Amino acid sequence: MTEKCDILIVGAGTAGSYMGWLLAKKGLSVIIIEKDKREQVGKRLDVIHFESDRVEKAGIPPFQVGSPDCIEIREHSTVVTPDLKTNIKIRALQTIVRLTPFLYRMYKLLESEGAELWFSCEFKKLIFDNGQISGVITEKDEESIEIRAKLIIDASGKKAVIRTSIPESYGIETFELGPNDVMYVLLQYVKWENPDEPHPTPDTGYQWWLLWFGPSYDPNGAILGVGQPGSFENARLAREDFLNRMDLPPYEVVKKEQGSTPYRRPPYSLVADKLLCIGDAAAITYPFSGHGVTATWVLCMIASDIISDNLNMGKELSRDVLWEINTKYFRNQGAKFASLFTQLSGVLNFNEKEWNYFLKKDLIYQTGEGEDIPEPNKEYEEEMTFGEMIKFLFKILGGLIRRQLSFKHIKRLLQANGLAGKIKKHYEEYPDKPSNFENWVKEAEILWGKKKVAVKRLDTVSIEYH
Ligand SMILES: Cc1cc2nc3c(=O)[nH]c(=O)nc-3n(C[C@H](O)[C@H](O)[C@H](O)COP(=O)(O)OP(=O)(O)OC[C@H]3O[C@@H](n4cnc5c(N)ncnc54)[C@H](O)[C@@H]3O)c2cc1C
Repeated sequence: MTEKCDILIVGAGTAGSYMGWLLAKKGLSVIIIEKDKREQVGKRLDVIHFESDRVEKAGIPPFQVGSPDCIEIREHSTVVTPDLKTNIKIRALQTIVRLTPFLYRMYKLLESEGAELWFSCEFKKLIFDNGQISGVITEKDEESIEIRAKLIIDASGKKAVIRTSIPESYGIETFELGPNDVMYVLLQYVKWENPDEPHPTPDTGYQWWLLWFGPSYDPNGAILGVGQPGSFENARLAREDFLNRMDLPPYEVVKKEQGSTPYRRPPYSLVADKLLCIGDAAAITYPFSGHGVTATWVLCMIASDIISDNLNMGKELSRDVLWEINTKYFRNQGAKFASLFTQLSGVLNFNEKEWNYFLKKDLIYQTGEGEDIPEPNKEYEEEMTFGEMIKFLFKILGGLIRRQLSFKHIKRLLQANGLAGKIKKHYEEYPDKPSNFENWVKEAEILWGKKKVAVKRLDTVSIEYH
């Protein structure tokens, strides 16, 4: 059996379904294949957080609190210092979502725009014609189906089943995610045994351990989450270190989830002839939270315009034609994320005492009183005014003089920030044509090669951040 469509998307997760919806709305014929059964999709995670401002930008019909896919829309979070003595209130615009009901809502939207969703249908193999991808072989209910499309989109998640199966020379890096390229996340849905006893309020972060109590569907419960690179054991030991220190009231663990989320730079190119990579398959996540859902929607918005404009002009979606997606993405969000990812390697070196100082002196988060707490930096720009910069430097100097901060770690921070600036500039100069790409990659490799491994030492474990 052979099918034909304009766009074939592999993976009906949050990336594939959003991308499919944008393209179907533009009148293109879209097929999304998904290896899981319809009733199984997204079941690996229950509660998940979306950045509310990004949801609005993405244009999906707004979430309604109380509907099956939305638990809460929050504006504030709390950050606790490693000495557990100071709580800092910050603004964080989060929509608390239930993943499977959200995907079902997306599927309805997709189907109302004429897109086809094929569940229990697994990508098996690419079909090439004259060296160019022209379709895929899939398997559905033990039947082999060939689907021919003008563009294939890899939205298959961390396994990146298409990206990792193309020949190295096809134009997109084929790396698989290793243990140092992901954050291993452990989630425990906990229920407080005596809800009236003081306990961490929902959405409280203990950044030193990369651990948080997220909101849950149970008002007397929370989601105790922790994420660390290297292994699940690293995450478990970081949680153990926290629990050894924190006097929590009794609780019961009612459900556990675990998984990993990309923590590395994306491939240098997201496009090749008739091929585009998005979502976890392209390793696109917010560097400081590991959240991936809304991070990739920005790329989807850019890509859907370029794809539909070119198809409407009757053009083939060659690497040259799709290149503009790279340019527009990497010069903007890609550059900011690359810079933040590099800055983190400076910040993650700080020891516990230094984290206390940084948090208490408002050097990491913007704080304030009541409703005066500034909104988060939605566009991930460095927006420090000259006055703020001077204040920041004085606080750092004060920390050095009072031996709250070490020269060694401040030097590492400054080095990481310097490198982050260079990497950002390099990505802002992302080539507008594939012909200049090879030289750009050479320079990018040199810059990334200068990024240093950061090490965190807890009583239970030392963890490397690559
Ligand atoms: C524990 C944990 C908590 C997280 N919390 C958050 C959070 O709060 N907020 C946030 O934004 N992000 C969070 N993330 C990250 C987020 O889950 C991912 O970034 C996001 O789901 C990626 O979406 P995706 O569509 O690219 O991939 P996926 O959601 O993995 O979807 C890929 C789909 O492709 C399908 N597929 C795979 N192979 C094939 C094949 N051969 N043929 C057909 N189909 C195939 C899969 O079955 C899957 O449905 C979390 C991750 C973890 C592990």
